[in-house]
Amino acid sequence: MHRTIHIPACCPHKDCGKSLITDKVKVGRRPSVHLIAEKDGVRGDIYLSSWYDDFRAVEPEELNIRPGDVVKFFCPYCGKELPVADKCACKADMVWLAIEGDGRVRMCCRKSCHYHSMEFVDSTELLAFMERMKREKKAKKES
Ligand SMILES: [Zn+2]
Ligand SMILES: [Zn+2]
Repeated sequence: MHRTIHIPACCPHKDCGKSLITDKVKVGRRPSVHLIAEKDGVRGDIYLSSWYDDFRAVEPEELNIRPGDVVKFFCPYCGKELPVADKCACKADMVWLAIEGDGRVRMCCRKSCHYHSMEFVDSTELLAFMERMKREKKAKKES
């Protein structure tokens, strides 16, 4: 239902905060969210769809991530692990990402448990985000 929202994800670490959106790899015809994934001590670049509620991702082949596997996520710029937001219903960690401007999204680290689908930590943040996007669109039209 929120397929039309594009998430401008950033590193959640305050001393970094860099945008994770990259043009290098497109998922769903839009720039993707670049992260580092780690499984069994092997790391590789992973590109998640930046569309809200979209499960697609371009995964590092060398990690051979299978459905049910739990991975760790790191920022490609500061190298720090993404902070844990919560435990998922599947018992894996959920990590969170910042959104440019304000707000947070979280996702489960287990593949095929929606792990590359980002959701807002609370629905008021989603509403605030949608309002902001609307305002920005309007501002663009008027300028
Ligand atoms: Zn970072
Ligand atoms: Zn899960």
